[in-house]
Amino acid sequence: MFPDSKTADLAGHYRLGGYLMKKWVLYLGAALVATSPAMAQDSDAAEEETPTAASEEDSDEAEDEDEEETESLEEFVKDMERSDGLFPLYRKPDTGEVFMELSADQLGREFIYFAYTENGPVEAGHFRGNYRDNRIVTFNRRFDRVEIAAVNTQYYFDPDNALSRAADANIARAPIANVEIAAKSADERRILISADAVLESQALHRLSPWRAPDTPPGAAFTLGELSSSKTQITDIRTFPENTDIRVEYVFDNPSPVNYGDADITDPRSVAILMQHSFLEMPEDGFEPRFDDYRVGFFTNQTTDLTSHSFTPYRDVINRWRLEKKNPRARISDPVEPITFWIENTTPEELRPIIRNATLAWNEAFEKAGFSNAIVVRQQPDDADWDAGDVRYNVLRWTSSPNPPFGGYGPSFTNPRTGEIIGADIMLEYVYLTNRLRTEEIFDTAGLPIGWQGNDGAAALPWRQGGSHATCTLGSHLQANMMSARAMLMAQGAGEAEYGRLVEEELFYLVLHEVGHTLGLNHNMRSSNSVPLSTLASRSTPPTNSVMEYPAINIARPGETQGQFAITRPGAYDLWAIEFGYTTDDDALDAILARSTEPALAFGNDADDMRSPGTHIDPRVMIDDLSDDPIGWAEAQAALIDQTLTVLPDRVLESGDSYQSLYNSYMILTGRRAVAANVASRWIAGVYNNRAAVGQPGAQLPFVPVPAAMQRRALGVLDKIAFGPEAFSAGENLLSRLQVERRGFNSFGTNVDPQPHARALNVQRSLLAHLLHPNVLTRLTDTRRYGGDYPVSTYLAELTGVMFDADQTGPVNTYRQNLQVEYLRQLIGIASGQGGGMQITPGGPQQLPNYDHVSRSAALAGINRIRTVAELPGTDTETQAHRMHLLALIEEFERR
Ligand SMILES: [Zn+2]
Repeated sequence: MFPDSKTADLAGHYRLGGYLMKKWVLYLGAALVATSPAMAQDSDAAEEETPTAASEEDSDEAEDEDEEETESLEEFVKDMERSDGLFPLYRKPDTGEVFMELSADQLGREFIYFAYTENGPVEAGHFRGNYRDNRIVTFNRRFDRVEIAAVNTQYYFDPDNALSRAADANIARAPIANVEIAAKSADERRILISADAVLESQALHRLSPWRAPDTPPGAAFTLGELSSSKTQITDIRTFPENTDIRVEYVFDNPSPVNYGDADITDPRSVAILMQHSFLEMPEDGFEPRFDDYRVGFFTNQTTDLTSHSFTPYRDVINRWRLEKKNPRARISDPVEPITFWIENTTPEELRPIIRNATLAWNEAFEKAGFSNAIVVRQQPDDADWDAGDVRYNVLRWTSSPNPPFGGYGPSFTNPRTGEIIGADIMLEYVYLTNRLRTEEIFDTAGLPIGWQGNDGAAALPWRQGGSHATCTLGSHLQANMMSARAMLMAQGAGEAEYGRLVEEELFYLVLHEVGHTLGLNHNMRSSNSVPLSTLASRSTPPTNSVMEYPAINIARPGETQGQFAITRPGAYDLWAIEFGYTTDDDALDAILARSTEPALAFGNDADDMRSPGTHIDPRVMIDDLSDDPIGWAEAQAALIDQTLTVLPDRVLESGDSYQSLYNSYMILTGRRAVAANVASRWIAGVYNNRAAVGQPGAQLPFVPVPAAMQRRALGVLDKIAFGPEAFSAGENLLSRLQVERRGFNSFGTNVDPQPHARALNVQRSLLAHLLHPNVLTRLTDTRRYGGDYPVSTYLAELTGVMFDADQTGPVNTYRQNLQVEYLRQLIGIASGQGGGMQITPGGPQQLPNYDHVSRSAALAGINRIRTVAELPGTDTETQAHRMHLLALIEEFERR
């Protein structure tokens, strides 16, 4: 799971904050406004009355510390700088302490609370522009204190139903902070609380990443204790509808075990710059749109506890408030367009692409009845506002050391209605670079992560799935770009072709991230409705949605190069926006009825099969292309193999080190492994069709993938990942795969190429799916509703893939490793060791146990291997290998 489904393109960011330099500049001239002279001192309701007759000077002198608490608000703030707005803020010029004024009518009222990270290291779970918290809060007076409580918006009670009087039953209140009243006005209409007391703790928002309790010490970088002396409010600003307070949180860890990466300047003290915003609830008049399961919008979920429906959901989609200027016109400009600003950090040459890609969404809004729905403006270099100002939606551009994303498009909403109030888009420069995380070791660099073999011995290091989990999608984008470049280079592409690649990919990236800020989540199924044969067409996009994570479309030698990526909203996107934004409620049913059209098929992260054994429909997958992903995977492997053979001639430059070859090899072979993973997902696949009962064009919800299709996937895997020649294509490069030395960075690691470990890791990543308990069990389950591939047949055929090809000759060293690995995993299954632990993007997970049918099939597989192991070897090496197999089987049998 991602920390937040909205942040699915996660993301990292780090840069020294400009804000720290800026200090606080936002006070409005007058330090004091309208102080009544001779103001009576307030007494606290619960305390005895305080005499109040003295002059201001006298009382200042006379007061002791206890009495200061009951000081009048005006007196209390008289030397402070005042900033007027939703919540007026006062700052002590000498200490920097900040106070926040609440008026009586604001107590008990709902406000939107929104927190985001302006800057912080990825390893601590933060990054520039990271949207973190978006909820409703209330400020409630409790005698001499003010409580800030989070409001639960998950439930709805029909106000006409008497049950609504019990609306808070068994729903936990969440008073997340509670602070003393520092001062109040005589009439108690205005009270003051210390913003430092509220914010200089983790009460409103927890900054430290949650770690599993069993995380081994030192396995992940950890923040220490929050330092109250170092943590401080750095910047405040307040406007009529929002108040923003920026806090630099400093965590001290005197004895760090894990020092983190280079972006952790000093692990003993780590600063995170965070902004808290309180916003007025938007004015009425926004019409929420209820979610539909056939379209992919972000939602705010609410359950109706007074409804008898089987699905008492009142989930509202996230969308902007768009109202027609001319409500009677079929197409009209909006009263207020959605305005995006291009941040002034964006390179000049990229601005037109970013602008045009953002505006390309207007085509979709025209279907929904709006012209010029989106407007793009350029932030001036001397702008007096910055991207942290929640009143501006900003397209941001950064280059960071450990970017976990190529792009990130978050928004924040009114949780009650789904109205999007603000959004930013982060775009990462790394997307356009050839930087490889060279600290990753040879046997795993560039490979898909998030898997582990089925016995403990096959475990990858924790870090593969731990703190780096959020990097997967970032590396996805960059790895695709790097491999595409290498493939084009190998084909001798010219500058124009590269230029088109970068432009199309950047266009796609911006379209994708803007799509998120319009409310759309991912559609990982949209590539599957494009015929393989049309990938070569320049006029057909390679996916039907920009909200997809597809492979980059690269032609094979001799074929025409089609579009590298989709460069305008696809058929699905146009349809989804029409559903989300049409002002014609009566049209909604007709729009949704089209969901069975192939080009409108939808499936998101909660469906896709990137993690082995997780989810069921192989059509919903990242890193693939076309309606024939198996055939595409085979072709992709062939293209990469072809690329590898000519790589040295194309990338090595006389006088340079071999780093370019190393990076290209790692990325290409990594993508090759990814393609194999795509094919693997068809084993035990079940089509998951979501349509309403009786909807025209609807298929049954669950349809097992035919055995013939699964066998075809197995055949491709045999060829590209398991067979004796599966890894021969890159072997001519091994003796040149050298990393350029950089200081002592390689100390303690061995820099020689380790092709066997790398090959075995690729194979293990596949076996993690092919032998996953869910996969084996599903083969048996599906037979009761149309499946025709018994697990015993499947395991017999998979065992054949592993052993048949070299029964009569020598077994090469890749195959020796593979066969031992495979046998050990079968033994693990047969002996009922359970599924073991699996590293997933969300951390390690305990797999379910294997069912008895699977265990029997594994046992049969072991017996079959015994007959191979008993064959005489043609050479001493093969004899030794078979003795090893036999010894493992005999050991298993003795248990
Ligand atoms: Zn995304």
